[in-house]
Amino acid sequence: MNALYRRGACPGLSAPMMTGDGLLARLTPAGSTIGLDAFGGLCRAARTHGNGILEITSRGSIQIRGLSAASAPMLAADVAALRIDGSEGIPVLVNPLSGLDADDTFNAGALAAALRASFASASIASSLSAKASVVVDGGGILHLDDVAADVRLRAIDAPHGASLHVSLHVSLGGDASTATPIGAVAPEGAVACVLRLLELLAAKAPNARMRDAVQGEGLSAFKSAVADLLIDRPAPAPRPAAEPIGMHALRMDEAAIGLGLPFGHSDSETLLRLIEAGRRAGAGGLRTAPGRALLLLGLQPAAAHAFVADAGALGLIVDAADPRRRVVACAGAPICASGQIPARAMAPAVVRAVGAASCKDIIHVSGCYKGCAHPAPVPVAIFGGDGACDVMLDGVLSRSVTVEDLPDQLKMLLASRVESKAERDHG
Ligand code: SF4
Repeated sequence: MNALYRRGACPGLSAPMMTGDGLLARLTPAGSTIGLDAFGGLCRAARTHGNGILEITSRGSIQIRGLSAASAPMLAADVAALRIDGSEGIPVLVNPLSGLDADDTFNAGALAAALRASFASASIASSLSAKASVVVDGGGILHLDDVAADVRLRAIDAPHGASLHVSLHVSLGGDASTATPIGAVAPEGAVACVLRLLELLAAKAPNARMRDAVQGEGLSAFKSAVADLLIDRPAPAPRPAAEPIGMHALRMDEAAIGLGLPFGHSDSETLLRLIEAGRRAGAGGLRTAPGRALLLLGLQPAAAHAFVADAGALGLIVDAADPRRRVVACAGAPICASGQIPARAMAPAVVRAVGAASCKDIIHVSGCYKGCAHPAPVPVAIFGGDGACDVMLDGVLSRSVTVEDLPDQLKMLLASRVESKAERDHG
């Protein structure tokens, strides 16, 4: 097997990863709009070269499954011919509506492009963790507070009377609520600041994440490395959670419609039909968004209602309150070679059990204990272990049941949990 086709590496188009259903390639959009024709070409390429399954990850990357060693390079060539603006190397995430959102305060896309160029010439990626990433949050409705990164930049307004209109608040290792703030930087110093921070991370703790390096090495080393660039600014307040599903107002009186892929995946035929529905509604293109979402862009608000009805009929999530959003499932067996249980295939039955028990918790269904789909702990989780479903309630193993018995057993467990909680709440 080619050394590139391995687990643990970032499965970009040029280095797909072996899974249970063949090779998986990940396309990380650079943040610009993908034309509907180009996305249609991508769906057809996924069908021709893979098994036609496309996934949107929790960070907004596109994954194409079921490739072979022979077909993966053909997919990469097709994507190159479609001129989809993807990026390899250290991921730099920007707001999914960057440049289109009326509330943008900063051109995050331009800074992200400058950062990618600087990373390519500095060649530090080989000394960093394969999961190292940077967030550039220019503001707007779909902010990135919930997206963890090694270095975070968030555009903030300068205090009244300051010479700078906008500066970028810098924090290290985590999401907006867990990262460690170190101050702010002027936009023209942002590339140097991020580069120095990542170079120091690579030198002091090769292949480690920033959060661990800050804990191990101390924050002062990182602050000292960028002291001449830093402006003293307090950390900005966290914002209400960003919600990609639904209609978002864009500049020029246009709208974006955010849709969710049930359990993070769909197939090329469904997505091709979605593109046709988008075309009928006047959409000019699409982008992906964190939270396993697609944003159809440039619709006239009057056409949005019919498009949402079409998307809903195709099985996509069009309502933020859709109960499928409360169940987070990885691919599981047999799609993932490590899967002990068919997590994705079980997810609809889990949704029904959760609904029958009137449970409001997020449920994580994981093919094995690695927990890829939701690394943070949740109150209710189902992990595959030795072919059985281990049901964990508040981090404690409650019971281990077969895949067939899980829906009924889960319904009972959740109903009793809901009842106990109601009794506690009433005294
Ligand atoms: S959690 Fe386990 S089964 Fe699920 S995708 Fe990750 S490695 Fe595969």
